[in-house]
Amino acid sequence: MKLSVVVPCYNEGASLERFHDSLTEVLQKEKISYEIIMVDDGSTDDTIFKITELNKKDKNVKAISFSRNFGKESAMFAGLKYTSGDYIAIMDADMQHSPSKMVEMYKKLLEDPNYDSICAYKSNRKDESSIKKTLTATFYRFNNIVSDVKLLPGASDFRVFKKIVKDAIVALPEKTRFLKGIFSWVGFNTIYVPYTPEKRMFGKTKWSLTKLLRYSLGGIVSFSTIALKLMGVFSILIFIVGLLNFILLGNLSHRTILLFISILILWIGIIAVYISRIYSNILGRPCYIIKSEIGFK
Ligand code: UDP
Ligand code: MG
Repeated sequence: MKLSVVVPCYNEGASLERFHDSLTEVLQKEKISYEIIMVDDGSTDDTIFKITELNKKDKNVKAISFSRNFGKESAMFAGLKYTSGDYIAIMDADMQHSPSKMVEMYKKLLEDPNYDSICAYKSNRKDESSIKKTLTATFYRFNNIVSDVKLLPGASDFRVFKKIVKDAIVALPEKTRFLKGIFSWVGFNTIYVPYTPEKRMFGKTKWSLTKLLRYSLGGIVSFSTIALKLMGVFSILIFIVGLLNFILLGNLSHRTILLFISILILWIGIIAVYISRIYSNILGRPCYIIKSEIGFK
């Protein structure tokens, strides 16, 4: 039974050696056969150099390197495609996901064959700013109302799952990926376990507030068309109100006209969001380009 560990890395040169050593220490202690697939997501630091060094001392370390930064979603997707294990884990390179927690999750999955996947959710956000906490909580609440896929608040990309789950995920053709939603969409029996992320040991987070907002909006667009459906329903209502207003009063009041215009502008905005998604999917550009591979035969 082999475990493939997928690690998205963007400018993580400073933490990779430490990460590798602590991960392999637990894997070897538990006698787990493994491969580590590091995905260099267009880093501009010495990440690829560090990975090459690691591959020299540990042949179970393999890597793919992107031609530029394509984002964590693309890095995870590419990494999954390259795995050959019966079980797959995804974890961050910055030591925030503890290797012993990952192995604990893996063993839990082995123990109970009824389960296919195990997901760690953040049970403790005490290190986050209150604005980030509020925005995250709002996102989960809003997502779970409007979206076809329900997400457990705090659900992360820190997961271990069977090959069958990975096969279902990589078979999906969509280009703009929101993995948390995809995991929920593909189904399978999932266990949720709480975890507290460790402090980032080196470097800083790659997620700015705008990146997070774009990511959240993208997630909702991926799995919800409710805004478009509501537009249809409200169109009928607005038409009736407008018509009645016109018949009874002979004209539309300025306030009504203003209200209609604002609603129209909002709708154009919503349609634009979906059109841009259709556009980028129709262009069919890949969600990553591989520059080099290390350690694959
Ligand atoms: N990451 C990536 N591509 C990106 C941004 C991040 O591969 O464009 C990786 C990063 O190297 C790390 C993981 O994704 O291993 C999580 O990123 P980060 O620690 O910045 O996010 P946070 O933990 O703050 O949510
Ligand atoms: Mg992190």
